[in-house]
Amino acid sequence: MKRLIPLFEHAVKKPVWDCRMCGQCVLHSTGMTCPMTCPKTLRNGPCGGVREDGGCEVKPEMTCVWLKAERRSHSPINPGRWEAELNHLRPPVNNQLKDTSSWINLLSGADRRAPAGWTGEIVEDSADLLVGAALVEIDDPSSLPEGFHS
Ligand code: SF4
Repeated sequence: MKRLIPLFEHAVKKPVWDCRMCGQCVLHSTGMTCPMTCPKTLRNGPCGGVREDGGCEVKPEMTCVWLKAERRSHSPINPGRWEAELNHLRPPVNNQLKDTSSWINLLSGADRRAPAGWTGEIVEDSADLLVGAALVEIDDPSSLPEGFHS
C-alpha cells in the first residue's frame, strides 16, 4: 500500500499540475501552480531573471512559474486564501522526501519538519491545517528583498 499511494498520487497530479513528486506539496500556497516546474525549482518567488514578456530566464518559451502562481492566486475558486498563502515563506525542499507521497507526508507531519538551521517560525492557525503547514507569513510583500515576488 505504501508503494501504491505515491503511484496513485503521481497518476492524479502529473496530468493536472505536472507534479514532480517532491513529497512536500505546496500547491495550496502557490495558486495551485507547482513550483517544482520552475527550472530552478524555486519555492519562494521568481529568481529576478524574468524576461520583460514574462518568459522564464532559463526557458524563454515558458511563462515564469511565479507569474502564473501570482495570477492564479487571485482565482475566484478560493477567494482570499490562496492570495494570503502565496506570501508564506516556504522552507527549503527536503530532497529526502522526493518520490514519496505528499499526502502521507501531510498526515505524518514529515512535510513540516524544517531542516537544521532553518529559522522560520511555524504559523499556527488551528482553523486550517494547510495554513499550519506554512512557515512565516509576510504582511508587507513590498518589504521583501529584490528577487522575491511582490
Ligand atoms: S507534490 Fe511537490 S512536485 Fe507535486 S504538485 Fe505538489 S509541490 Fe509540485
